[in-house]
Amino acid sequence: MNKARKLIIAGNWKMNKTVAEALDLVKGIKRELANIKEVDIVVCPPFTALSDVSKAVLNTNIRLGAQDMSEHNFGPHTGEIAAGMLKEFSVRYVILGHSERRQYQKETDDLIAKKALAALAASLKPIVCVGEMLADREAGRTELVLRTQLRGSLAGLSAEQMEETIVAYEPVWAIGTGKNATPQQAQEAHAFVREQLAAMFDGTVARRVRIRYGGSVKPSNARELMSQPEVDGALVGGASLEDRGFSDIVKNSI
Ligand code: PEP
Repeated sequence: MNKARKLIIAGNWKMNKTVAEALDLVKGIKRELANIKEVDIVVCPPFTALSDVSKAVLNTNIRLGAQDMSEHNFGPHTGEIAAGMLKEFSVRYVILGHSERRQYQKETDDLIAKKALAALAASLKPIVCVGEMLADREAGRTELVLRTQLRGSLAGLSAEQMEETIVAYEPVWAIGTGKNATPQQAQEAHAFVREQLAAMFDGTVARRVRIRYGGSVKPSNARELMSQPEVDGALVGGASLEDRGFSDIVKNSI
């Protein structure tokens, strides 16, 4: 597939997989995807498996991501994990503002922007998630929601920092529901996100930033979604928990 930007496909394992299960999964992914160079491949295990998975992907084409991090660098923040701690395991990417954290941990755009700045200061690449709820879409508020989340969650980033950042468009109604956005809906939303980035930064930055789609991506819909000109990859939840499913998504996207 001929793309303007290199595709990036990441698996978000969420709160799944013991260390042994994680190692099993990553072994399968390594076997299936060893020769793929056309796509940046990222796995995001739970914190407890980062250390072992980090060793398992050493010297391979698979990169490591975390699912969240603190906006603080150290100190009295019980239960939190700092960017510097993730770096100890060669983590390169960190998912921030996933809709589950926005919804259940009440994360705000302001907090997500602080986390993004802390990640960038530690040379981690943030994957900042935005996306509308079903009620927003039905009420014609998709663009308003996306504009507000982008302006809030990326507040304070310089143009250089924005180029290191990835945006994930994840319509909340498509996450874990089996009901993906149509390729046309994804293309439209991504084009809108890129327009907003051009307004917030500039056209060059907007053209360079990778915007990826998340929401019920599976082997059967990956090719059509990834072939949209503004779609630069995928954030995959459910289908990333099984080596064949995740690997077929990557292979079908090339
Ligand atoms: C996600 O949670 O980021 C996600 C896209 O999940 P799923 O692929 O299961 O819809």
